[in-house]
Amino acid sequence: MLPYQTLEEAASALGRNLTLPEKLWYNYSANKSDLLLYSHNTIFLCFVFTLAPLPYALIELSQSDYMTKFKVQTKIKTSFSDMFKCYKDVMKTFIFAVVPLQILSFPTLKWIGIRTSLPLPSMWEILSQLVVYFLIEDYTNYWLHRLLHCKWGYEKIHHVHHEYSAPFGFAAPYAHWAEILILGFPTFLGPTMVPCHMVTLFIWTILRHLEAIQTHSGYEFPWNPSNLVPFYVGAEYHDYHHFVGRQSQSNFASVFTYCDYIYGTDRGYRHHKQALNKVHIAHNVILVIT
Ligand SMILES: [Zn+2]
Ligand SMILES: [Zn+2]
Repeated sequence: MLPYQTLEEAASALGRNLTLPEKLWYNYSANKSDLLLYSHNTIFLCFVFTLAPLPYALIELSQSDYMTKFKVQTKIKTSFSDMFKCYKDVMKTFIFAVVPLQILSFPTLKWIGIRTSLPLPSMWEILSQLVVYFLIEDYTNYWLHRLLHCKWGYEKIHHVHHEYSAPFGFAAPYAHWAEILILGFPTFLGPTMVPCHMVTLFIWTILRHLEAIQTHSGYEFPWNPSNLVPFYVGAEYHDYHHFVGRQSQSNFASVFTYCDYIYGTDRGYRHHKQALNKVHIAHNVILVIT
């Protein structure tokens, strides 16, 4: 809740006129408690889990020949009932694990100093914090994910996420409730180490889950802007992790590929890619000869 009764009062406290985003934030947040504002993060997540996988689902269900060229596992078809079952399970876990986790983490949020006040952070501050959060998330998630692939972790918890060997958008948050709690830690660690404004926290949560949905989409589009991000994981990379399952010990990274490279957990994937390239080249040679 903001300590101003009017926009004018806020402007005089800041010593300048409010920018348009600040006016919007004032109108949005002025009469809401910090707990209520934070709970909106849960609503945004619910929208992301529901809406972001839809374009991928429509592409999959359309069975378009053109789009199939960009599918990673072309032989696997995911039906509407498969997707709907997955979505229902995700929503159950969402209600019984994610929502309580969000509410229970509110005191920690206050303690670490997530602010809701004016002025809003600059674009530069938001971008630099998001980069830091992605790096922290990626490194911590890599080790926790790798740990979940030990015998006990996989059989008791992580096997649920691996039920789909050809992932699709709705399957990104499909996991055991304990995994939601464990892998929620890397997402929360960045804002804990580098506290931000609530707006940045909203953007961070949405971007992180959009990224997870894209890497689980099963489609690798060459025009995806994320391809411009150095060392970005992408759909094909994470798809391989699901394709080989527990045995692989390969491609654990969630956002960037460098941890797998440094710790040697992408060897299987690189051999797989080299073998595919050889087959592709041989196929093209045969076509040219004939
Ligand atoms: Zn895994
Ligand atoms: Zn996955």
